[in-house]
Amino acid sequence: MEKTLVIIKPDGVQRALIGKIISTFEDAGLKVVAMKMVWATKELAAKHYANDEDWLLSVGKKTRSSAEAKGIRMDETDLQIGQRIRSWLMDYITSTPIIALAIEGPEAITAVRKLVGSTAPAKADPSTIRGKYSTESYEYADAKKRPVKNLVHASEDAKNAEREISIWFTKKEIFDYKRADEDAVR
Ligand code: GDP
Ligand code: MG
Repeated sequence: MEKTLVIIKPDGVQRALIGKIISTFEDAGLKVVAMKMVWATKELAAKHYANDEDWLLSVGKKTRSSAEAKGIRMDETDLQIGQRIRSWLMDYITSTPIIALAIEGPEAITAVRKLVGSTAPAKADPSTIRGKYSTESYEYADAKKRPVKNLVHASEDAKNAEREISIWFTKKEIFDYKRADEDAVR
């Protein structure tokens, strides 16, 4: 059994997609074990989007290869791209209230990432949350000087799931209960 952190980002809340997004996880048999609406401070956002060099480089690399595939050359280093996007993300995630959730289930971390879809909605499978509700690309968002509006954040791996859940929730805010259909689902 795993737990993972999901955030419904400002675009998901603004577009009144909170219910549909949560239903996607519930319908897959995953269980909401913690949930709150938060207007995050810059400090909280900085903790969530940690100043981690590996993550900054991976974001930078992904952005560069997508740009190059479209014939766009980027002059910044991978690290600079990552830092620029982190700073946009911290502004964005603190711009309106958001919903934080801890979701539990077998293989919850991978299952939630699969239901959420790839980072750029334009490339995401249309059966995923990002692919179904948006068509944004990295280039479109970059031109607007803001993060890709892709509705949802989901933890990438077990280490980050644990780290991120502890940023948004205290132990007392995470509940252990049984869903009525649990014996049928699991
Ligand atoms: P995720 O795990 O799929 O959310 O993607 P990452 O961890 O790589 O990036 C975090 C968030 O940064 C993404 O969900 C996007 O909102 C944003 N982002 C990532 N890459 C880019 C980019 O190249 N340009 C812009 N504008 N935003 C980006
Ligand atoms: Mg990520």
